[in-house]
This record gives sequence, structure tokens and C-alpha cells, in this order.
Amino acid sequence: MPELPEVDSYRTGLDKMIKGWKLEGGKSIWPKACIDDFSRVKNQKIISFDRRGKYLIIKLSKYYIIVHLRMTGRIDIGIDTPKYTTVQFDFDNGQKMCLVDYRKFGRIWIVDDTKPIIQHLGIEPLSSTFTLKKFKQLISKRSGTIKPLLLNQSFIAGIGNYLADEILFRACIHPLRKANTLSKDEIKKLHNSIKYIIKKSIDYGGTTFLTFRGPEGKKGEFWKKLQVFRKTGEPCPHCKSPIKRIVVGQRGTHICENKQKLENY
Ligand SMILES: [Zn+2]
Repeated sequence: MPELPEVDSYRTGLDKMIKGWKLEGGKSIWPKACIDDFSRVKNQKIISFDRRGKYLIIKLSKYYIIVHLRMTGRIDIGIDTPKYTTVQFDFDNGQKMCLVDYRKFGRIWIVDDTKPIIQHLGIEPLSSTFTLKKFKQLISKRSGTIKPLLLNQSFIAGIGNYLADEILFRACIHPLRKANTLSKDEIKKLHNSIKYIIKKSIDYGGTTFLTFRGPEGKKGEFWKKLQVFRKTGEPCPHCKSPIKRIVVGQRGTHICENKQKLENY
């Protein structure tokens, strides 16, 4: 599933590829995928790309195209319309930008103001405002289970299932721990791991799960660096005890029970 690093690789890849291109129009092939007025994009140029959480924001001359890939969405640039395309944009050079989405949960908005779409999002984990002090403040107000809290987009924006498992493993924190039971040292480790794992995944171009591919057709390489995610039964890279799969908040979760202990809390 595309998370912050995967969306970020679209931001940088598309910037190199289609910046300055002019749109002619577009349409929804799966009507629910975009209900906005496509006439807004006519004669609009692609100015720049931004990312907020898992949202990709494409700035046009006057409007914005906002993309959320959800479960299986990917963006395809080319002259044809691939199978499973839900939304298609046409450029004046004959190329198309398609949202290709097997499960059809991905959404696109064409808006003049990005705020209503992204204002619910919490802090950006790689921004300079996400300091240890700020993280301590944010977490002190929470009493819930730590993994669902990391996945809560209004708490921190951009973390999904694989990042959360890798972050908690690196920080030696069991995903079922309550946020208000974390020690000062654990909060520090968690803050450090959030930044470290996300940066590292971006460096490797993200992962490649299901249908995700980078915009230049290049696959992310971070899956090679995963320590626990979807490694059930494989030896922990640190202590060699088998990685276990548990369910936390209805999400498959991967841990080393030796490194991430739950007792005594
Ligand atoms: Zn271990």
C-alpha cells in the first residue's frame, strides 16, 4: 500500500517527468474516483508537486489536482490507457496521466483550495517542526494503543502499516503498548525511528507491494531492507527468534517478541 515514501517518490519522479506539460482535459472512467469538474484542467499547466501525508498535490496554473492512491492505486504516464484506469488526464502532447487502480479506492480531487481535503492531517514526520519536544507534547495527550496511534493520520501524517511495523521494531516497542506507558527513553527512540525509517525508505524509492511502481517504471527497493513486515516465521535479524504475526486494530502486525516485549506494562 502506498505510504509517505511511495507518494514522495511520485512527487520527485513526476516533477522530473511532466513539469510544464499542458493539460487538455480528463475524465472519470470509474465515476466515484473523481466527481469534480474536469473542465477546470483545460489549458492548465503543471507548475509543481507537493506532498502532505499520503496525498500528492499537483499544482496547476490555477487549480490543484490532489491524488490519494489508497490501497492499490498507481500513477501511469504514457500514450495508452492501462487496464484498471479509474481516472484519466490528457496532455496536449498526446500523453496521458492515469490513475490505475485495481481495487478502485483511490481518489482524485480538482480544487482551487487544498485545505478542505488535507486540513485533518497531523504533523509531517520529516518536517523541522516534528522535534522530540513536539512529539513528547503530542504523545502525552494520548492514551490509546501505540500502533493504531501511529496509523492515525490526524496524529502523524503519512505512516501506514509497513512503516509502523518497522518503526516499532526498531524502537523495541510492542505495538499493543499504550501510548501513556512509554518511558522518556522509549519516546525518544520512537521519535528517532519514525524519522529514520521514513528517510531510509525514501532513499530506496519506497517499497513495491501489489501494484505500486515508481513513476519512471522503476521499482522501489526498500522491501529488501524490511526487517519484520511480512516476514512471519523468518528469523529476527537481531536475535534470530522467529518473527510473529499478530493482529492489532484489525491490521496484520509483525513483531519480534524477544525485542518487543509486552509484559510489565
Ligand atoms: Zn529479535
